[in-house]
Amino acid sequence: MQFISTRGQAPVCDFAQVLLAGLAPDGGLYVPQQWPQFTASEIAGFAGKPYQAVAFEVLSCFAGGSFSADELEQDIAAAYAGFDSPAIAPLRKLDGASSNGSHYLLELFHGPTFAFKDLALQILGRLFARALARRGGRATIVAATSGDTGSAAIAALGGLANIEVFVIHPLGRVSEVQRRQMTTSPHANVHNIALEGSFDDAQSIVKELFAQKEFAAEIGLTAVNSINFVRIAAQSVYYFTVAAALKQPAIFVVPTGNFGDVFAGEAAMRMGLPVERLVIATNANDIMARALNEGVYASGAAHHTLSPSMDIQVASNFERALFEASQRDARWTAAAMGQFAKTRRLELPPAVLAQLRARYTAFACDDAAILATIKKTAAETGQVVDPHTAVAVCAAERVPASAAPQVVLSTAHPAKFGDAVRQALGRPPAMPEGLKRVMDLPERFETIPNDLALIRQFISSRLPA
Ligand SMILES: *Cc1c(COP(=O)(O)O)cnc(C)c1O
Repeated sequence: MQFISTRGQAPVCDFAQVLLAGLAPDGGLYVPQQWPQFTASEIAGFAGKPYQAVAFEVLSCFAGGSFSADELEQDIAAAYAGFDSPAIAPLRKLDGASSNGSHYLLELFHGPTFAFKDLALQILGRLFARALARRGGRATIVAATSGDTGSAAIAALGGLANIEVFVIHPLGRVSEVQRRQMTTSPHANVHNIALEGSFDDAQSIVKELFAQKEFAAEIGLTAVNSINFVRIAAQSVYYFTVAAALKQPAIFVVPTGNFGDVFAGEAAMRMGLPVERLVIATNANDIMARALNEGVYASGAAHHTLSPSMDIQVASNFERALFEASQRDARWTAAAMGQFAKTRRLELPPAVLAQLRARYTAFACDDAAILATIKKTAAETGQVVDPHTAVAVCAAERVPASAAPQVVLSTAHPAKFGDAVRQALGRPPAMPEGLKRVMDLPERFETIPNDLALIRQFISSRLPA
């Protein structure tokens, strides 16, 4: 399988190159040259299969040529061995929900860091180490995190040879558990930076580091944010397992920040999966809801909310959806993204908007709605949901009634966001053992102003000679 850039100015490359590079050299995002295709009977055949087997079927379409079937099978097995649910992504019926139809929660928090980022990063880390060993040399991973990518990247890459991991989180904008999960890593190759800025500032510093081509090449700079296509591929797997289990097209309601998880649903659709609708659920950072509903993709100031992993005003993966919605017009996509970078505003052409609206619906829910939803869901169903999942449960209630089952992606364990749950329910959520551990370990992180040069200096100073 070959990959191309959404901006059309990068050489075609293979899966291992996409994995190691993250961002394309022209500033665009990689997408498959052609989407692999699954037939209805192949998809029906996924029913009852272990999650790992479906992951193998989907990932081997992309990775073929870069990794052997044995390598892929081994890495998938190891990636999901540490999950605390044999189903990996269990689908739980939400009984007692007030609206009609059938409602489900897809639990994506059974990995080592209790958020859905593990589903992709556990496999990405293993394949990355394999590809790097083959290519030789070192890699420097710089990840901007709104809270969960950081710990999942550290869990996947901490302690690996020839890889240094720098994680930049916005100072004071992640929950205490999230921060401790990152800063208590014992591994010498893990470096945490608390940035005096927002997540968007952190994300733009990563993009600017990539733009400093000499420095980027010298340190072997790589991204494992959801701009890395391998994450999208790995996340598309659970859309297939859900559809196979339900035996009918579903409405997926996805708590959305950087647009990676919901775009993985579009990827599954483009691979042949029938999906009734993809619902984008945002918090008060409603750039995606405004883009879909008003036709203008424009970012404002980031709001600090109870669902910090979605406190994002630039949804990087939206570029992939725009590329597809423009009928893969790389020239238009490059111009549009260039304009957005300058003015922070992009009016969507009617044809592009119509394509997007044919697939996506979007709703925004503020903090008051998050608290009310956590409370109502606990009262009606006995389920305690985390504030990100609550955004999606809240959005799901606004989706017009239909016969299709509704599946809310439950992206984090409530114990990661104890304060928000306590505010809603008057009691903290139960803490799993794996999270209790981090509360007593010593923390290591460096606080750095929002300044590209200072970040660059810090990275250089920490790299082994
Ligand atoms: C990252 C994250 C999201 C948003 O996912 P995107 O792929 O960035 O849209 C939602 N919920 C939680 C808990 C997350 O960690």
